[in-house]
Amino acid sequence: TETDEDVLGIADMAAHVIEAGRRAAGTRDIRCTISIGGFVPKPHTPFQWVAQADPETIDHRLRLLREKIRADRRYGRAIGMRYHDGKPGLIEGLLSRGDRRVGAVIEEVWRDGGVLDGWSEHFSFDRWTAAAERALAPFGVDLAWFTTRERPQGEVLPWDHLDAGLDRDWLWQDYQDSLYGAEVEDCRWSGCYDCGVCPEFGTEIQIGPTGRSLLPLTVVNRAG
Ligand code: SF4
Repeated sequence: TETDEDVLGIADMAAHVIEAGRRAAGTRDIRCTISIGGFVPKPHTPFQWVAQADPETIDHRLRLLREKIRADRRYGRAIGMRYHDGKPGLIEGLLSRGDRRVGAVIEEVWRDGGVLDGWSEHFSFDRWTAAAERALAPFGVDLAWFTTRERPQGEVLPWDHLDAGLDRDWLWQDYQDSLYGAEVEDCRWSGCYDCGVCPEFGTEIQIGPTGRSLLPLTVVNRAG
């Protein structure tokens, strides 16, 4: 659902932050750092069906953003930018929404010498794409099938048998709303949307003892 304009808006946001900081602090010595990477859709979220943007699209948008910041004579020098290019994100997307067939890809990468891939100096995109091609071909699927393909509503997803408490129909509706930019208020203050995650709906979410007070997850009935 993201457009080039959405990404370019990040530069405007940084300029606003610097301007507000200068006003509040009474000094021009205010900097803002943008830390950014491509969006990786995750299971059990409204974007579990969405087509992930390919690395070329991500890199193109990062380039546009960099150029816009550089061209900004007023704030550009005060804006820093840290980013990950699009290729590692695609592999992250494969691992995030892959099914058990992706296990063969991981093994193939390891057999080909891939270790410590989370460190950029060890990561090889070419090794992953070659391994995916070899390991997934017998199943009739490929890297794009797991990443840049939009899933239809009725497709059985690899994690559907795991219950995270969120109602599948609610997630789908939230995804549809996002396509039209519909905003949803924070349910702690506005009332319950029946997403299914609160204990009142019989969900028993297990979390470890943190010793901290958790935010109250109490259903507030919506007026009307
Ligand atoms: S109150 Fe609980 S069940 Fe209702 S929308 Fe919020 S998180 Fe979901």
